[in-house]
Amino acid sequence: MPAQIIDGKAIAAAVRARTKSRVSKFVLQTGITPCLVTVLVGEDPASQIYVRNKGKGCIEAGMFSRQVDLPASVSEKELLDLVSQLNADESVHGILVQLPLPDHIDESKVIEAISPGKDVDGFHPVNAGRLLTGKPAFIPCTPLGILEMLDHEKVHLKGKHAVVVGRSNIVGKPAAILLLSRHATVTICHSRTTDLPAVVRTGDVLVAAVGKAEMIRGSWIKPGAVVVDVGMNRLPGGKLAGDVAFDEAREVAGKITPVPGGVGPMTIAMLLHNTLEAAVRRAAAK
Ligand code: NDP
Repeated sequence: MPAQIIDGKAIAAAVRARTKSRVSKFVLQTGITPCLVTVLVGEDPASQIYVRNKGKGCIEAGMFSRQVDLPASVSEKELLDLVSQLNADESVHGILVQLPLPDHIDESKVIEAISPGKDVDGFHPVNAGRLLTGKPAFIPCTPLGILEMLDHEKVHLKGKHAVVVGRSNIVGKPAAILLLSRHATVTICHSRTTDLPAVVRTGDVLVAAVGKAEMIRGSWIKPGAVVVDVGMNRLPGGKLAGDVAFDEAREVAGKITPVPGGVGPMTIAMLLHNTLEAAVRRAAAK
């Protein structure tokens, strides 16, 4: 029997509806409307679309959104000055600087300049450290979305073997820590892993975050496994493909996320959740 498809669009819509209703209660209780500021440097078309959708998502959830567009020629100092102004601005709850940044700007300097309490992307080392040590943190939106999907699908993680392919700071590593926090036994794979297919075959849960179209074949997948495909790879001709060969994997897996319509929609949904959370935490700290 082919795998059950995990409908990321529907789960994301449910998360967004939940956030919207929490936002309206929060606004009524506190008079504060959560506000996300997105900063876009340069004119990369994909980044423009992402940022626009993030802003639209905020408005739909009843929050404020402001977008600051800067030319690609902006200096690192100018960008850092903007971040520090936004840090000091009481009306701003979340700050998101869209990555990638032009080569002359040090991304990690910019990430580290954002106040950890406004770091709704969860990329600041303070938030990464808090996640690692099991403390409340802003968790990067894509891995948080993955966990939300697994919870929605009632996937039991305790004692299961989760294999994460990819060790980036924004997806692979935080996804692995989250799975570990749910008592899965976690293996993290990367480009130097020996015999990747054999390791992947041991995964009851597989998270693929590689960035290589259809690299993970159906024959690598453990029968009945839950497969989460984070990959978003543009094929020649424009079609979007995941990191997993979907048609093959579907014949073997128990559940699988499609691309598009899987993890992708969850990312913005969790960003809206984090923005509300930033406002709630600040209000509680007053
Ligand atoms: P990175 O390029 O930062 O990381 C890729 C990881 O894959 C690295 O750890 C790398 O290993 C590993 N890798 C590369 N080639 C191989 C290989 N042949 N075998 C095993 N491991 C390999 O990517 P991201 O984590 O940022 O993103 C991964 C994918 O997820 C991309 O397709 C991206 O577009 C997508 N994505 C989707 C999002 C969504 O909202 N759906 C959000 C974010 C990302 P090493 O460390 O050794 O180099």
